[in-house]
Amino acid sequence: MNNSDVQQDIARRRTFAIISHPDAGKTTMTEKLLLLGSVIQTAGMVKGKRGPAATSDWMTMEQERGISVTSSVMQFPYRERMVNLLDTPGHEDFSEDTYRTLTAVDSALMVIDGAKGVEDRTIKLMNVCRLRDTPIISFVNKMDRDIRDPIELLDEIESVLGIEAAPINWPIGMGVGFRGVYNLYEDTLSVYEPGHNAERFESRQIAGLDSDAARELLGDEYESFREEIELVRGASHEFDKSAFLAGRLTPVFFGTALGNFGVSEMLDRFVDWAPPPLEREASQRVVAAAEPGFTGFVFKIQANMDPRHRDRIAFMRVCSGCYSKGMKMRHVRLGKDVKIADAVTFKAGERSLVEEAVAGDIIGLHNHGTIQIGDTFTGGEDLQFIGIPHFAPELFRRIRLRDPMKSKQLQKGLQQLSEEGSTQVFSPLNSSDLVVGAVGQLQFDVVSYRLKDEYKVEALYEPVNVYTARWVYASDPRKLEEFRKKAADDLSLDGGGYLTYLAPTRVKLALMEERWPDIQFRATREH
Ligand code: GDP
Repeated sequence: MNNSDVQQDIARRRTFAIISHPDAGKTTMTEKLLLLGSVIQTAGMVKGKRGPAATSDWMTMEQERGISVTSSVMQFPYRERMVNLLDTPGHEDFSEDTYRTLTAVDSALMVIDGAKGVEDRTIKLMNVCRLRDTPIISFVNKMDRDIRDPIELLDEIESVLGIEAAPINWPIGMGVGFRGVYNLYEDTLSVYEPGHNAERFESRQIAGLDSDAARELLGDEYESFREEIELVRGASHEFDKSAFLAGRLTPVFFGTALGNFGVSEMLDRFVDWAPPPLEREASQRVVAAAEPGFTGFVFKIQANMDPRHRDRIAFMRVCSGCYSKGMKMRHVRLGKDVKIADAVTFKAGERSLVEEAVAGDIIGLHNHGTIQIGDTFTGGEDLQFIGIPHFAPELFRRIRLRDPMKSKQLQKGLQQLSEEGSTQVFSPLNSSDLVVGAVGQLQFDVVSYRLKDEYKVEALYEPVNVYTARWVYASDPRKLEEFRKKAADDLSLDGGGYLTYLAPTRVKLALMEERWPDIQFRATREH
């Protein structure tokens, strides 16, 4: 590809992930997006775990549990754009993968269950998006059910998530009385017709709320709906693209993913408004997507994606330039040039070889143990991307061996799993224990399973008195040394060798922060 083709390709990219609370409708939405992108021809396949998206069930454990522990990437063309949709685990329990996946996108789609409003997980994921001011588009789902008052929902988005909400369309009725949506900016009504869940379907459009057709559709409720619209216009924020791009305002759409209604309206705007691949910060400089030189970073490593290939795949977000098959890349952390001829992508759920990929795309590199999360690859420049964080775990266990003779294997296994980001390992300074940390319970199960399956080690978990972890920094090395001596009982080294304070309680943490003003206690550590 010549440079201007690459530039055009980059400008077409829209790379995003869906954030939502379990059961809000992420899977259903994904399926409808794949339908619109012609990746699938009929809906109803994703949920059955047999269709294209079913490839996320690689691990035996996942199959046993019928859940998706890992996440994947789906690319499809839509209108003049090329969409990269990054899937995030949907189960109640989840891992840091979800968080880090959000560092690899340029925007996010927030799906909210209209009956439930803003839920826990959504709040957590929003907080992660906020670290980079990621633009968010919102979809209030399940309009075919009795949901909460839409105005109240907007208020909740604003107050709980701390972001301005600008409705783009407004629902006409709800539940069995759901008639469609009114587009506040185009003055058009889209009419909802149940029974078109499975195929691509264009809903009937009515131009103008003043039209006879609109009066006919709304019947007795015409006047009250007009008043409601007046009220909404007066009381809500107006869409402002620059506020959206700055992560301060979210456009809100109403619809039903299951009913296949309102999704294409949302996607049409989304591909227009969402940013093309954004610049990324490296420790040396800021890298623009349009730069000709190739750069990318690894945000996730996944094992055993396909039982026939016992390798690991490192997921790389291309940040600038273009990957072409057989090219040489510099693995910056190792200072080594490697020839990459077999990067993979997951188009239509198939694992296929990529010939070319540009900024905004995700490619998979075969990893034989040398690649770590956070690693930067370039066309030759020594550059390290920043902002791919480790998050302080929320759950901790002491790990014990059933067979004490296997402590070498355990060390090795944990080291590797922590390099992949599957768990975090802490070695206390004053004991020979090993403490593992996770952000979701399921991570522990995955670690146990993999230790046994891949390293032949049976590990037991015991409760441990740790409330949270904080990475410890100080600009004055003497202060740090003093702290290290005084607080040694609660200090550990994490998998990367960084000093970490394992706080036994929230109160103790607050006390230490007060007592040691020269020490920084950070809740995230960057690779
Ligand atoms: P996820 O956990 O966020 O992936 O949620 P799913 O997509 O699996 O949806 C959870 C449940 O809500 C499923 O039973 C869906 O069929 C249902 N659902 C999703 N969207 C809608 C909708 O628009 N209307 C209704 N009535 N149900 C929906």
